Amino acid sequence: MLAGNILVTGTNRGIGLELVKQLAQNTAEGAHIYACCREAEGTRAEALRALPTQYPGKITVIKLDMSDEDSISAAVHAVSRQIGADGLNLLINNAAVNKPASPAPLSATGKEHMMEVYETNVAGPFILAKMFLPLLQRAAERGSAAKEMGNTMSCRRSAIINISTLISSIEKCPETFPVAQMYPYRTSKAALNMLTRCQAEDFKMHNILVTAIHPGWVRTDMGGEEAPLTTQDSVHGMLNLMSSLSNKDSGKLLDWQGNIIPW
Ligand code: NDP
Repeated sequence: MLAGNILVTGTNRGIGLELVKQLAQNTAEGAHIYACCREAEGTRAEALRALPTQYPGKITVIKLDMSDEDSISAAVHAVSRQIGADGLNLLINNAAVNKPASPAPLSATGKEHMMEVYETNVAGPFILAKMFLPLLQRAAERGSAAKEMGNTMSCRRSAIINISTLISSIEKCPETFPVAQMYPYRTSKAALNMLTRCQAEDFKMHNILVTAIHPGWVRTDMGGEEAPLTTQDSVHGMLNLMSSLSNKDSGKLLDWQGNIIPW
């Protein structure tokens, strides 16, 4: 079971909203969820704003636009003030965009799509993790290491989970490209994978785990109506997986059921 201070981005709909719901239901006593959303006051965040009342004392909604560095900085300060000495145990980079609209063929794709998608899907998670590093380190230092089998890392102690996708896989491109071209989205998630790999190398000395997870093909605004997986099943699988991650999983790309996806 996950525990401690957990932050999720992009939580007003889709997988992010379901992550907050299931974390509120299934985390240990004392856990707190920071649910980030770029338009926290708007009508698009009504379902999210109802959750803190449903789970009193367990959820704080934080305004955060992943494409805006000032917004990231303000969110990090707001969370830092509330977290105090405990640190941040788990950062889940879930927010993302896929532009232009699916199926996003080459003919409809321009530089502006490349830049917007990269900004939200790569630069945002990079800056957020950089700014949260002191709080992740603090949690790692306070956490009691599971000594057995040399495991010192876990999502209970201190971790970054970057939500990636199967279609980021360069090896799998011959199979996936005919189904979905999506140049900006694919290349941004391949960059997110490299960010994951770099962070895993950089932060292992602090015992911070960094893993990329593919949620499956999920029925959301992004995944579309024909997707086979519900948000409930995908998130249930991903949270089970997160609870079991350890040193050997840091720097890997796994699917929601724990299978390794080749880079
Ligand atoms: P949705 O499009 O349903 O939701 C995306 C979320 O990201 C929304 O909450 C959206 O907020 C938020 N978001 C987008 N841009 C920003 C921004 N600049 N700042 C803050 N929040 C932002 O997507 P899913 O729930 O389907 O996807 C969640 C994650 O799973 C993504 O990383 C996606 O790439 C990944 N994924 C999804 C798959 C699927 O089949 N659904 C398959 C593989 C991976 P707003 O309402 O304000 O736009």
